[in-house]
Amino acid sequence: MTKPTEHLGYGIYLIDTGMGRPGLAACYLIVHQGEAAIIETGTLKCVPQIMNAIGELGLSPEQLRYVIPTHVHLDHAGGAGGLMAELPNAQLIIHPRGARHMIEPAKLKAGTVAVYGEEMFAAVYGDLLAIDEARVIVAEDGHEFYLAERKFQCFDTPGHARHHLVVHDPLSQGIFSGDTFGVSYPELNGAGGERFIFPPSTPVHFDPDAWVTTIERLLTLEPKRFYLTHYGMVENPAPLASSLIEQINCYANIARNAANEPDPSAAINKALEHDTQARLNAINCPMPFEQRRELLTLDNQINAQGLAFWLSTLR
Ligand SMILES: [Zn+2]
Repeated sequence: MTKPTEHLGYGIYLIDTGMGRPGLAACYLIVHQGEAAIIETGTLKCVPQIMNAIGELGLSPEQLRYVIPTHVHLDHAGGAGGLMAELPNAQLIIHPRGARHMIEPAKLKAGTVAVYGEEMFAAVYGDLLAIDEARVIVAEDGHEFYLAERKFQCFDTPGHARHHLVVHDPLSQGIFSGDTFGVSYPELNGAGGERFIFPPSTPVHFDPDAWVTTIERLLTLEPKRFYLTHYGMVENPAPLASSLIEQINCYANIARNAANEPDPSAAINKALEHDTQARLNAINCPMPFEQRRELLTLDNQINAQGLAFWLSTLR
C-alpha cells in the first residue's frame, strides 16, 4: 500500500495529492537547509492536502521558495495557482511554452471544459487560478535554481508534451520526470516487485522520435533514480528506459496499423489493452485480468486518443 507522505532520502518527500485514488498522482517536496520546493501540484482540490503535509513536516508556508509543475496538464499544474496563493514567498518555475497558461489560465480551462464539460471540470479540477506574472520564472533548457547551496537543473523534455521540463537533482542523482519517464502504478508491480511502466501518449503532443531522444539524453546524466508523478520513486532506470523506448515505438506502430480502420481510436484502444495485458503477464502481475483492465481503462483510452491524434497529423 502507498502512504500519504513518505521520506525518500535526501530531504525528498513524496506527498500523495489525493487525486482520484491513492497512488495515482504524487507531488514531491524537497527540503534543504530550511528552504523548500514543491514539484507538481495536483489539481486545485489537492491544495489543502498538500498544505497539510507541508505543515505536518514542520514547515511554514514562508519557507517554500519554488512551485514547479513539470508541464501544464492539469493533474500536474491544475493546483499551481491555488498553491501559489498559499505560499507568499514562492516563485513558479515553468517551461516557456507553459508560462502563458499559468498567467492567463482561461484558455487552458476552456480547452479542458470543451473536452470534459462544465460539470465534470468543476468536479475533477475545481478551477484554475491565475498566477501573477511577476512571480513566474520561465525556465529555458539548462535553467538552474538553488535551495540554499543545493543546485538543481531543469531540462526541456519534449515527447509527452512540448511544454514539459524535468528537474535534475545531482545530490540524489535523481530526476523528477513528470510524465517523461513513463507511468508506473505500484498496484501493477510483478510478483517479484518488477515495475510495469508505460509511456502516456496523452493528446496532443505525442512525438515518438523526440521522446526517444529525450530519454536517451536523460540517461547521459547517469541518474540512479527517477521520481515519477504517476507514481513514486523507481531505481535502476536502465531496463525501464529500454522498455519505455521499445513501447514508444510499439505505440507508434499500433497507431500506424490502425490507419485504415473506420475508427482508429477504438482499434488502437483494443490493441493497447491487448499489449498492456501481455506485458503484465510477462512480469507475473498478480492482479486479476479484469481488475487490471479496469485500472488501466482510462489510461488506455487517453493514450489511444493521443495516438489517433498523432496519426491524423501524419496524413
Ligand atoms: Zn501529462
